[in-house]
Amino acid sequence: MISFNVPPYYGNEEIYIHEAIQNHKICGDGQFTKYCNNWIEEKTGTTKALLTTSCTSALEMAAFLCDIKPDDEVIMSSFTFVSTANAFVLRGAKIVFVDIRPDTMNIDEKLIENAITSKTRAIVPMHYAGISCEMDTIMDIAKRYQLLVVEDAAQGVMSTYRGKALGVIGDFGCFSFHETKNYSMGEGGALLIQNQNYVERAEILREKGTNRSQFWRGQVDKYTWVDVGSSFLPSELNAAYLYGQLIKAEEINENRLKSWNFYYDHLYPLVEQGKIGIPFVPNDCVHNAHMFYIKTNDIIERDALIRYLKEHGIEAVFHYIPLHSATAGLKFGRFHGDDNYTTKESERLLRLPLYYGIKSEDLKIVVESISNFYEKRKSL
Ligand SMILES: *Cc1c(COP(=O)(O)O)cnc(C)c1O
Repeated sequence: MISFNVPPYYGNEEIYIHEAIQNHKICGDGQFTKYCNNWIEEKTGTTKALLTTSCTSALEMAAFLCDIKPDDEVIMSSFTFVSTANAFVLRGAKIVFVDIRPDTMNIDEKLIENAITSKTRAIVPMHYAGISCEMDTIMDIAKRYQLLVVEDAAQGVMSTYRGKALGVIGDFGCFSFHETKNYSMGEGGALLIQNQNYVERAEILREKGTNRSQFWRGQVDKYTWVDVGSSFLPSELNAAYLYGQLIKAEEINENRLKSWNFYYDHLYPLVEQGKIGIPFVPNDCVHNAHMFYIKTNDIIERDALIRYLKEHGIEAVFHYIPLHSATAGLKFGRFHGDDNYTTKESERLLRLPLYYGIKSEDLKIVVESISNFYEKRKSL
């Protein structure tokens, strides 16, 4: 069986986990959390990076820091993971979905301005497959209407837009280190903050509403309850696992890109024959090979291809069921404008196996199986 995903594992993770155990420091904010925060800050240029228990919790922190109030509106695409919306729904916001661009599957930046009302507080672009949204346009709109921008960069670690790391273009950026992402700690994430003014509140929020971070730095002589908060900091054991991968990020990234390019080059003939669609990377974007997907003609063909691949030992999956059509989406959101592409394009999409260290023989089998599927279909 060729798995769709194998959690990233470089081979040095145990060394650092062992070190954390030997240090007798396994709760949060020890040296490995600091190493990871520093790595993110150096790599992306963000003002502040805070490791969190997930991207979901980073999004929740961002929604809180944006001071979202009940009945505020937040604009995003409907083709995204539930957490992008939930984080804001938890604060009482109404989600306003707009259509995607069919070429990148990202929010259509041209539709955002028309969806803005007097209640709009934030725009939440999600960078699908690690390929950036059209951030210049989005930031320009945000500036003109004084809106905050929270980037869901769960899939975008190591990707850039016009030379800038994803996650540092908006006011807040959220990374995921879930086991399905490019770099992992099992469950984990990070909040990236651009404006220094938000940093203190973020640290307090993450540390159960206490000023413990200031206490550790010697800025206060005892720590106490100073604001609302929760627990958003991960264990050192998880941070140690992640650190092993972050210091090898370039190598992991190159390995993924090699596999991604293999798919691209070898599936291109099927694109030329008009059989399938493949990802489009705009000129301003450098991507991190988070995902390789193809687009079939329609949902019937896609489901047939999933079954065919499964019969040939290949696990390929689809996502997302557009949020606006889900039970919770109907309750917490509304779709602004027409759904020209969100539903139609999501039904065509199929993700192929891609992970760090996937064997080139396996990539060949996947390509051959897809080609055989279309060869057979021709003769039907
Ligand atoms: C994976 C993912 C998340 C959630 O990440 P967790 O770390 O599992 O909370 C959020 N948004 C997008 C777009 C994702 O792909």
